[in-house]
Amino acid sequence: MNYKKISIASVAVGMFAAGAAFAQDAEIATWSGFRKGAASFTFDDGAPSQVSDAAPVFDKYGYKGTFNLVYNWNPNWSGFQGMADNGHEIASHSNSHGNNMSGEEASSKKNIEGKIKQKYGIVTVAYPNCNVPSESAVLQNYIVGRICNGSWQGMSDAMGKDGPSNWAKTPAIMTGAEGQLKSTNDFTGQMQNVVKSNGWVAFLTHGFQGKNNGNATYSPTDLGAIEGALKWAKDNDKDIWVAPMGFVAMYIKERKAAKIEPQDGGAANTMTFELKHSIADNISKYDYPLSIKVKTDWSKVEVTQGEAKLESKVDGGYVYFDAVPNAGKIVVKNADAAAPESSSSAEPPQSSSSEPAVSSSSTTALPMQAFDGRHLAAYVDASGYITVQNAQGLSITVFNSLGNVVRTTKGIGLEQKVYTGAKGVYVVKIGNKAWSLKIK
Ligand SMILES: [Zn+2]
Repeated sequence: MNYKKISIASVAVGMFAAGAAFAQDAEIATWSGFRKGAASFTFDDGAPSQVSDAAPVFDKYGYKGTFNLVYNWNPNWSGFQGMADNGHEIASHSNSHGNNMSGEEASSKKNIEGKIKQKYGIVTVAYPNCNVPSESAVLQNYIVGRICNGSWQGMSDAMGKDGPSNWAKTPAIMTGAEGQLKSTNDFTGQMQNVVKSNGWVAFLTHGFQGKNNGNATYSPTDLGAIEGALKWAKDNDKDIWVAPMGFVAMYIKERKAAKIEPQDGGAANTMTFELKHSIADNISKYDYPLSIKVKTDWSKVEVTQGEAKLESKVDGGYVYFDAVPNAGKIVVKNADAAAPESSSSAEPPQSSSSEPAVSSSSTTALPMQAFDGRHLAAYVDASGYITVQNAQGLSITVFNSLGNVVRTTKGIGLEQKVYTGAKGVYVVKIGNKAWSLKIK
């Protein structure tokens, strides 16, 4: 019975593959996770309070921000590196905070990259004093140049689904005492608007009221208002995508350039796709995962891309997953037709002393070590997924609190959801490093 149904589905896929009709049956989401709108929180001037006060609030809700540092102001480099290792984006705000970047587009990128390690280095910039410098120098070094309020330049404050009309003029709305957004309602109102318009809004914050802000004295914001905004976002996480500016920019550029195409000749009970774009610059490889949905009659599927097992979900006749452009064939397999995967096939927990210890109270990363020059990140996102960054090509294993293996996969792309499950403490091992993380 199952077999008959599956055969029909396979034939249908073959027919669609031959014609343009298929395009309707494999779709790239406007926003990650098929959410309706996107929001980015950006922070300028490298305030000490951004490390000590703001980062823990963001991490509590599983969200990540963009932190624009002024090189010559010698911010808390190790504190900001720790944030990069935890998934936040570190970005440039020049060397000297002079008007029009003082010609520091390339040099500030290089200088900050000498202090902060993250994949692709420093890929976004915020202009000091909101003044747009040489656009060509910006776009040779960065995928985003951020201004302040768009309305201050005769543009709109929020953006549409394709981002700004000029990536060297990406707007962000000023928050705090001198800004437009002061209360939680001010922030959530902006996010509700982009959920309605399928757009993208960015916020620009300096320091916080009553905190140690160093040089970031301009327009302090109530951190409680931001926490309220993040709480609202988490409650509405199916609709609003909160992510660093650089990641949202990559997502938009990839989505506009990418095509998902079915491949012929797959085995029965599988569908095969290629997801490709040809964006080329020297700044990023544009391998942020794109969210995909594919029409299916199957009730249970397994999705792989190369050696990576992709998290997937079947709902309403579609299978949903995140795949990485230009990273190999995507295979969607009917899991009901496949040999049943026995839970006893999971490797028993190893007892060697190098094995990570599970501490029921720890939610922070174990000490970091250099690993072939890259800086890995692992965290639990707002949807409850154990998420890793920069793990391309490395073996990933997730253990539950009993020490049982609950997931094995391979790293792929810039960011990757690797597991979600019951609340509790898990250990994720990437290569030879381990993190203890809590799904709440
Ligand atoms: Zn500034």
